[in-house]
Amino acid sequence: MADAGPNDVSSGRKRESGGTVQCQERHRLHEQFQAIQKELDDLVTQQFAAFRANDERRFWRLNQKLEPMRDRQERARLALRKHIRTHRCQPLESSRF
Ligand SMILES: [Zn+2]
Repeated sequence: MADAGPNDVSSGRKRESGGTVQCQERHRLHEQFQAIQKELDDLVTQQFAAFRANDERRFWRLNQKLEPMRDRQERARLALRKHIRTHRCQPLESSRF
């Protein structure tokens, strides 16, 4: 019996449309960046709500949280850009980083 042809799903290798295998490390760094981005968006939304509610204390408390978060985001962005540059796993022109 030698019909392990078209029904063989054991090779779980995913390919992107361009034919290149996605870089794990770039993927990880990108996820990390997006996670921070999401946290930031969340904080900004909360801050805006505090602003609308005239809750000054809450507004400034959130502002203090935002600053280190923006730092983290910047570091994550740079790490991703550096990886793409050195690893060349994605053309820089096609990315926002
Ligand atoms: Zn890479």
